Amino acid sequence: MKIDPHTIQCKTIGHQWEEIPYTGEIQWDGDPLLLRCLSCHSERLDYIDSLGGLVHRGYDPSPEYKKVLTMSRAQWRVEYLQVRKLIISRNNRRNRLRMVK
Ligand SMILES: [Zn+2]
Repeated sequence: MKIDPHTIQCKTIGHQWEEIPYTGEIQWDGDPLLLRCLSCHSERLDYIDSLGGLVHRGYDPSPEYKKVLTMSRAQWRVEYLQVRKLIISRNNRRNRLRMVK
């Protein structure tokens, strides 16, 4: 199964969330907090109450991330070990480009 290396990274060491504006219908009590992963583009929608409690949490995994969910933990760890050098090299190149701007 061919899977995007960044999606393997998400499953192994966690998503890289950023908040995006929520324009959907309010379905739970509390304020909606919509997050999208910079790497795999999965989304997470939390509802936070006025005391900071988590009222609801829902995920909308990207098609690529759904593939990872069918793999065992051992499988995605092995995949990550195989692709991490590529990921680190890409991230270093991206960070160098950011510093130039
Ligand atoms: Zn992700």
